[in-house]
Amino acid sequence: MIKLPALTFREWTGPLTADLVREPSKFGLGQIPSRLLPDATTKAICGFCSTGCGLTIHLKDGEAINLTPDPEYPVNLGAACPKGWEALSVLDASDRAMMPLLHGKPVDWDTALRFFCDKMREIQAKHGTEATAFLSTGQIMFEEMAYLGALAKFGMGMIHGDGNTRQCMATAVAAYKESFGFDSPPFTYEDFEQSDVLIFIGANPCIAHPIMWQRVLKNKRNPKIIVVDPRSTETAMAATQHYAIRPKSDLTLLYGIAHLLIRDHSIDEAFIAKHTTGFNDFADFVFDFAPERVSAETGLSQAQLMLFADTIRKGTPRVSFWWTMGVNQGHQATRTAQAIINLALMTGNIGKPGTGANSITGQCNAMGSRLFSNTTNLLGGHDFRNAMHREKISQATGIPVGRIPDRPSLAYDQIIQAADEGQVKAIWFVATNPSHSWIDQNEMNRVLDKLDFVVVQDMYCSTETAKRAHLVLPAAGWGEKEGCFINSERRLGYSPKVRRAPGQALADFQIFKLIAHYWGCEDLFQEWTTPEAVFRVLQRCSEGQPCEITGIEGYEMIRKSGGVQWPLTKVQVADFQSQIPQHRRLFVDGRFFTADQRANFCFVEPEAPPEQRSDEYPFILLTGRGSSAQWHTETRTGKSAVLSKMSPQELMLDIHPADADKLGLVDGAAIRVISRRAELTTMVRITNCVSEGQVYLPMHDSRVNQLTHASFDPHSRQPSYKYSAVRLIPA
Ligand code: SF4
Repeated sequence: MIKLPALTFREWTGPLTADLVREPSKFGLGQIPSRLLPDATTKAICGFCSTGCGLTIHLKDGEAINLTPDPEYPVNLGAACPKGWEALSVLDASDRAMMPLLHGKPVDWDTALRFFCDKMREIQAKHGTEATAFLSTGQIMFEEMAYLGALAKFGMGMIHGDGNTRQCMATAVAAYKESFGFDSPPFTYEDFEQSDVLIFIGANPCIAHPIMWQRVLKNKRNPKIIVVDPRSTETAMAATQHYAIRPKSDLTLLYGIAHLLIRDHSIDEAFIAKHTTGFNDFADFVFDFAPERVSAETGLSQAQLMLFADTIRKGTPRVSFWWTMGVNQGHQATRTAQAIINLALMTGNIGKPGTGANSITGQCNAMGSRLFSNTTNLLGGHDFRNAMHREKISQATGIPVGRIPDRPSLAYDQIIQAADEGQVKAIWFVATNPSHSWIDQNEMNRVLDKLDFVVVQDMYCSTETAKRAHLVLPAAGWGEKEGCFINSERRLGYSPKVRRAPGQALADFQIFKLIAHYWGCEDLFQEWTTPEAVFRVLQRCSEGQPCEITGIEGYEMIRKSGGVQWPLTKVQVADFQSQIPQHRRLFVDGRFFTADQRANFCFVEPEAPPEQRSDEYPFILLTGRGSSAQWHTETRTGKSAVLSKMSPQELMLDIHPADADKLGLVDGAAIRVISRRAELTTMVRITNCVSEGQVYLPMHDSRVNQLTHASFDPHSRQPSYKYSAVRLIPA
């Protein structure tokens, strides 16, 4: 017999984010000790997530002693989630990397940098430049990312480098590029407040993007909120319609909705005719997605499908579509994102207030990584394969064109595969922790342990990846260095240095400068003296691109104006007569970035996920963010006692009551979760938040990615974290 849960959902998960945002002081956030009254303030941008909230930093003797959300910043309007409130406290952790560590022993910077360069050169001499690679992050400033990408590729001769944005936003990049002609999220956060219907697909902003959710709650238009998610997430509970589809049947559902809209002539034919390409082929394709088929494959009733279509059909003003990892981390992720884009295009919901096919990014600088990391794209969203682009970037940077590779990097998973096959021998990891976060974690760690040289450059020497490193380079963190982030709505925000880094830790920017010096290529980077100087170089790289930022005068303008969205050209500045609107969206004129200025309809036949359930592994494991108080691998947030208290204290597996009954489980019972790759033991939480046959684990626990099955979207190479087969055995 099942014992009913003794605790409510809220008691299990800790306080809901809305409570925290409304009453932070109740949870011990934002209180300034009376002995530390500030004598000045400055403004910064939060360095965790892609929302890009503005923070007021309270200073004493020039050092940050506390922070509060910035009420004037157009992103967050005076609110912050728990992570933002705790951004300073995690800098004080005892396991900060203070000295370079060579084979676990402290050494001085000179020794560390000589070893770094000697070892990288030795490997390149023996195995070629392609035997060395870097993997970075959307967590460092965009000027730093650009410096890393330029140094590694133009200075050190590497071809291969990618970032952990591959785990997060690569799908949105690939989808936008093919559909719109450029990686161009079209929206501004005001669209949350200006929609009549908001559709969240594979997105749980209540937990993952709590301040964006606050913007939804400010919507005065009494909007309908649709959530498409296999789980009854916090956002689904707050929605007006929740469609709990079978895991990874989202592509079929979206084609089914398109079928109904076309069948019932509920599309914007004028917009389609004037601004798109490929609609007729798409209409022929979705003819096969009749409600009977879609109902059978998604698990939704035909009445539910009709209600969904009715809610967004032509005549409904202002429908906006929002997606995040539930879509991006799938085996057909790019086509699923494009199925969302197709719905926005065919209903004319783009370029107008409260509309858009809107991908929400993950990390604070994911957008900066996408455009300026010099990994898959040449600086400024250019193409390494295009000779004219290489010439342009050579002119903009002063780097001889012969030093610019004529092909893009392998993707992250391909770099790891090349390492497994012995072609890549050394990887330089910057501010990322793939030993925890990469899919099928044990395989990743097996490959890392094969490498001749692992370098980790990070704030903490205790990450799972740093523990495997031959060399650790201690880095300053957010607040200990300056630069810009680019958030989900394309807004560049400036963040200053407000603390000294501990010990001998240096800003990533300074580390790159030193490496350029020790490598002997500093002459190439004579102009790259400060983050703002690099910003100037990147402005030139952006010229003529959809992401052009030449109209920004410099850091001072970004600081004073509440951030600046790209694009901002000099012509726009003149047109705006220097009164730059705080919120701008793309495609207002219906012109896209393709050669013919029309958006493309892209589609493919849905396929079953690569790993299927079986008699031996009868459950589907879903993963996602478990708490608004924890961030990714907990490298920083795990250091805050306040944030730890706000998160569930134990790893818990969500399981449906009927499945728990069959297994004879009571709430809180220990359970072995076994995949074809590994197993872990945890406690069960019996809840209707998951459907029968599905179980759920939060990704920030270090063990969870031992279980996940490594498959990848063929277009974006983004890992598919959301569908793995497991079996359960009571422990
Ligand atoms: Fe805002 Fe994200 Fe920082 Fe929270 S973590 S304060 S939502 S930027």
